[in-house]
Amino acid sequence: MTIASRPTIPAERYAERLRQISGRLLLHRVDAALIGVGPDLDYLTGYRAMPLERLTMLAIGAGRPPVLVVPRLEEPAARAGLRTPLDIATWMETDDPHALVVSLLGRDAGGGRVAVSDRLWSFHLLRLQAVLPSATWSSVTAVLRELRMVKDHDEIELLRLAGAAADRVVDQIASGRLVGRSEADVATEVRQRLQAEGHELPEFAIVASGPNSASPHHEASDRVIQAGEPIVLDIGGALGGYGSDTTRTLWVTGGDERNGPTKEFRHLFGVLLAAQQAATRAVRPGVAAEAIDRTARNIIDGEGYGENFFHRTGHGIGLEGHEEPYLIAGNDEPLAEGMAFSVEPGIYLPGRYGARIEDIIVCGADGPIILNNEPRELRVVAG
Ligand code: ZN
Ligand code: ZN
Ligand code: ZN
Repeated sequence: MTIASRPTIPAERYAERLRQISGRLLLHRVDAALIGVGPDLDYLTGYRAMPLERLTMLAIGAGRPPVLVVPRLEEPAARAGLRTPLDIATWMETDDPHALVVSLLGRDAGGGRVAVSDRLWSFHLLRLQAVLPSATWSSVTAVLRELRMVKDHDEIELLRLAGAAADRVVDQIASGRLVGRSEADVATEVRQRLQAEGHELPEFAIVASGPNSASPHHEASDRVIQAGEPIVLDIGGALGGYGSDTTRTLWVTGGDERNGPTKEFRHLFGVLLAAQQAATRAVRPGVAAEAIDRTARNIIDGEGYGENFFHRTGHGIGLEGHEEPYLIAGNDEPLAEGMAFSVEPGIYLPGRYGARIEDIIVCGADGPIILNNEPRELRVVAG
């Protein structure tokens, strides 16, 4: 896929989002939203930049037009990066940018309620707090989460493209040589292939072989893959800004069928697949996020593997690889049409082996829309 053919969020959508957040400030009893570099800024303006000690910040005072504060030297980059027309205020190297931001908020913010983005560095937050000593502070996520959790048509299309690209990489890796190579070597190939399939950012490549497959966030190591063991492949990154994240479990035989999966592993994997499928089928609007987790967990618990499934069932995905909603006990957030999240139960026997299956699911009007479509069954390959 060429960059030119990659779909983007239509420019008018950003103006719409800015209007929506301004309207929500009063609803959430917030006088000002201060949004630093990161996914919230990207969501509202399309501007993607590096978080730095030099302050870049979108300042939205209730009832005022939003202003983007940028260092003078980054003004051309900001103008090129913004996807929506926005007032820009620049600061010179010897100015105090935090005081500038506060001056743009109007008189209400002096002792007011200020919401800041979660990704804002404490470096900046502490300086803002020094300029506004009597303000009360909260997270702007309370205001933005309802917007960001529900994906629109274009966002879902980007998630779908990212998912299809990651699926192709899983298939390419599973069809290639694995036995005798190190995990790190295979992980490098995964990253290269993610990029070749259109990802601008290959963020992670978990290649967990043999006993390492029992560690859910295993860092690909120098361990050499051997015949007669499982490999958990958990890969993803961003395409058009939106994330992919998929996991498949393989078993490599080295071409000798005596090295096939053990009876115990086949059983464990069958339980896992049943749990992942039941949890996926349970997705529909109105069902609580925790109910999806419980569906998977009940099946795994029922087979005696309860202690071996020690992470939540899933996480939201969009501009961030992990975002709301989280599929976890205690989260009674009702799923809504357009929410996108992973369904990824795992079963891990420490020191021996483990397995995980992960798909990205969009909650559709009548049930799940599955964005990863590589076969989920245990894939036995020569490797
Ligand atoms: Zn994870
Ligand atoms: Zn994953
Ligand atoms: Zn995940």
